[in-house]
Amino acid sequence: MPNFPSPKRTNPRKIQRKGSKDSEPRYHTTNWRAVRQSVLMAEPLCRSCAELGEVVLAQMVDHIEPVRLGGNFWDTSNLQPLCNSCHAVKSAKERGR
Ligand SMILES: [Zn+2]
Repeated sequence: MPNFPSPKRTNPRKIQRKGSKDSEPRYHTTNWRAVRQSVLMAEPLCRSCAELGEVVLAQMVDHIEPVRLGGNFWDTSNLQPLCNSCHAVKSAKERGR
């Protein structure tokens, strides 16, 4: 049985959308990690789920007023803990703004 080498797969090019988290350098700073950590320490559950009476562990810290719409990046009163699914729903809504 001949062993053919598998054809080399071309990697799909990484698409960097404008306005995605990757394009925001502040997310890569130690300062952000500290702020994010302190928000999650103070409120470890998803705020959006909590409003519906659900207890879901937050997986990220979201800017309530998006930074690209003028929200303050560092102000903890503009930050809320969210789970991934609530964040996805929120982002989808914001895209329509
Ligand atoms: Zn949630």
